[in-house]
Amino acid sequence: MSRKKIVAGNWKMNQDLQSGERLVEEILNQEFTLDASTEVVIAPPSILISTVTNVLQSKAQFFTAAQNCHQEESGAYTGEISAAMVKSLGCKYVILGHSERRMYQDETDHLLAQKVNTALNNNLQVIFCCGEALDIREAGTQNNYVNIQIEKGLFHLSPEQFSNIVIAYEPIWAIGTGKTATPEQAQEMHANIRAHIANQYNETIANNTSILYGGSCNASNAASLFSQQDIDGGLIGGASLKAGDFAAIINAI
Ligand code: PGA
Repeated sequence: MSRKKIVAGNWKMNQDLQSGERLVEEILNQEFTLDASTEVVIAPPSILISTVTNVLQSKAQFFTAAQNCHQEESGAYTGEISAAMVKSLGCKYVILGHSERRMYQDETDHLLAQKVNTALNNNLQVIFCCGEALDIREAGTQNNYVNIQIEKGLFHLSPEQFSNIVIAYEPIWAIGTGKTATPEQAQEMHANIRAHIANQYNETIANNTSILYGGSCNASNAASLFSQQDIDGGLIGGASLKAGDFAAIINAI
C-alpha cells in the first residue's frame, strides 16, 4: 500500500497579504515529525498563492493548492483564475467541489467534471471534495449520495488520470460547526468510497487513493480520526488558521 498521507489547510476567504505571510512563517517555525509519505498542503486565497508558495519553497514536503479554478483554459471570464495560472504559481494541487462552492456558486457535478479535466490537463493534482448535508445523513442515504458525487465528478477519468486525484470527504453538517463526524462514521464512509473506487477501477487504484476527512477536525480529535484505517489525512479549515493547532494536526498523522 503506497498511498500518501496529506494534511491540507484550507484558509477559505481569510488572511490578507501581511497576516497570510505571518501565518505561513509561523507554521514553518513549528516543530514537525513528518515521515516520508506525508505531505502538508496550504490552500490560501488565490491572491496570496504566490506569497505562500515563495515562503514554502525552502521546505520539503510542503506544497500549495488553489481553492478553485475555472473550467475553461482562458478567455473573457472576468474575475476568474485558470488552471494554467494556478500551475504557473507553483501549486501542486487545486481543491475542487468544496461544499461552499457547490452551495454558494451553484457548482454542479457536471461543471466539476469539466473543472477536473481542465485541472488535470494543466498537470495539477485535484483534491476533490464530497459530502452530504444533515438531512441526507438523517435519512441514512449518505453512502449512495457521496458515491454519486464521485461518479459524476470523477468516474469518466482513465485509471492513469485517476492517480492524480485525492478525495476529501467533508460532511456538510460538520464543516465549521464544531460537530465532527465520529472516527467510526468517517471510517465507514471512507471504506465505502474506497470500495466504490475499487469497483469502478480496481483494488490497487483504490488502495493508492488518499482519502482525507474534513469537518471540524482539530488538534484534539485529529489523532483518533487519523488512526482509522481508511483515513489518510485531513482537509482543515478553521484550525489551519492557527499555526500551533495546524502543526499539532500535522504531527497527529
Ligand atoms: P472546518 O472546515 O475545519 O472549519 O470545519 C473544513 C473545510 O471546509 O475544508
